Amino acid sequence: MRSHGHGCNGRAPRAQLQWPRVHIVVIGAGAFGAWTAHQLQTGGANVTLVDAYGPANARASSGDESRIIRCGYGADVMYSRWARRSLLLWREQFQRMGRRHAPLFHPCGVLWLASGEDAYTKITAETLQREAYPITVLDADAVRRRFPHIDAGDVATALIETDCGVLMARRAVQALVAHLEERGVRVLRARVLMDGAELRHPQSQPAGSLTHVTTLDGETLPADTFVFACGAWLPKVFPSLLAGRIWPTRQVVIYFGVPSGDVRFGPQYTPAWVDFAAGIYGVPDLEGRGLKVGLDRHGPLFDPDDGDRVLDEPSIDTAREWLRRRMPALAEAPVVESRVCQYENTATGDFLIDRHPDFDNVWIAGGGSGHGFKHGPAVGEHVAALIQGTITTEPRFSLAGNGTQPQRKVF
Ligand SMILES: Cc1cc2nc3c(=O)[nH]c(=O)nc-3n(C[C@H](O)[C@H](O)[C@H](O)COP(=O)(O)OP(=O)(O)OC[C@H]3O[C@@H](n4cnc5c(N)ncnc54)[C@H](O)[C@@H]3O)c2cc1C
Repeated sequence: MRSHGHGCNGRAPRAQLQWPRVHIVVIGAGAFGAWTAHQLQTGGANVTLVDAYGPANARASSGDESRIIRCGYGADVMYSRWARRSLLLWREQFQRMGRRHAPLFHPCGVLWLASGEDAYTKITAETLQREAYPITVLDADAVRRRFPHIDAGDVATALIETDCGVLMARRAVQALVAHLEERGVRVLRARVLMDGAELRHPQSQPAGSLTHVTTLDGETLPADTFVFACGAWLPKVFPSLLAGRIWPTRQVVIYFGVPSGDVRFGPQYTPAWVDFAAGIYGVPDLEGRGLKVGLDRHGPLFDPDDGDRVLDEPSIDTAREWLRRRMPALAEAPVVESRVCQYENTATGDFLIDRHPDFDNVWIAGGGSGHGFKHGPAVGEHVAALIQGTITTEPRFSLAGNGTQPQRKVF
């Protein structure tokens, strides 16, 4: 029995699956694929997880040092609930994996900052308060008192999501995949082939279902079900289906070195922050990597395999301009690291999680659109429930629901 849209209300179904002999191949070991593999394996499926460049690799969107986890999404309570559920699952997973790792989650809080009266920040505060999420609302004076190194002179209202913070993205995904491997998931480094005309040999497959995929090395991977969690590569894997539905864009993050001996910019004194009006977000100085400033505005179209990942001067100027205004002590700080990554944008910023229209056993899970990392656990639960048939496709995530004209609504 299927219940339409169930699983998108924050009370996502637990993966209590009974699939002792079902074999599922998950292609892509970023946050979406790794968590999907986890939920499927937990449900008893025999899982193979394949990635062309390895889990959370340098080209993958999940491969940066850190990702913010916040629950605030304006009035969009669906994503707030998914984020809350995911935060719980991330934390449970980190506990399960034990203390082998340096912290994979920093509960430093997430500070929403905006110039003047910002409607999006205001509605976010209202939504989170209504949902009883732990937040603190501050005026400019309170921000100044609490964070003397942040200039909030023009901020009318700020809020802090107190139990949110930063996930150590690359290490978290790699630790999760190592844990999966210990539990019997086959983890494979290989490129699943496509030939521009989509999956190789579709003609040789029985109509309506895929029997296997092939890797570049010529290995055949048969399975009952396939999940393609290929991030920004999805339009390359399924060009005719997705080339007009997912647009990878070039996105830059810059790590600025903090003054020696200065602890003000570490997670104890500086939260992660989002300044939506400015199109800038950032993360405190974690593990000595420097204070990270990210540019959220969509950059030019980007090829995730061959795109140029060298930092550009205009991005540095934009980041510095923001620092000059909000964290003047770092206005002239040196760039110590940078990363050029890609968003895999859908038209609205909603995820794209749906069955492939030509194969009843092929699922697509992607469209993270610059905000997906935190939701990996809930995505995994959702995909597992779709495969199990206990829910149907959420209209907002469906191929039909995901338009072809960019009009970003989810941030
Ligand atoms: C600069 C930046 C900042 C961001 N900030 C945040 C944030 O603060 N908070 C947040 O929640 N989200 C954030 N995001 C978004 C988030 O990082 C992504 O939505 C998320 O990581 C996507 O995960 P994924 O698993 O779908 O894709 P990916 O992590 O890109 O993984 C896809 C994988 O598929 C593999 N693959 C592709 N094709 C094939 C093939 N044919 N065969 C085998 N393997 C293949 C790739 O090698 C890759 O490893 C940010 C993104 C960027 C770029």
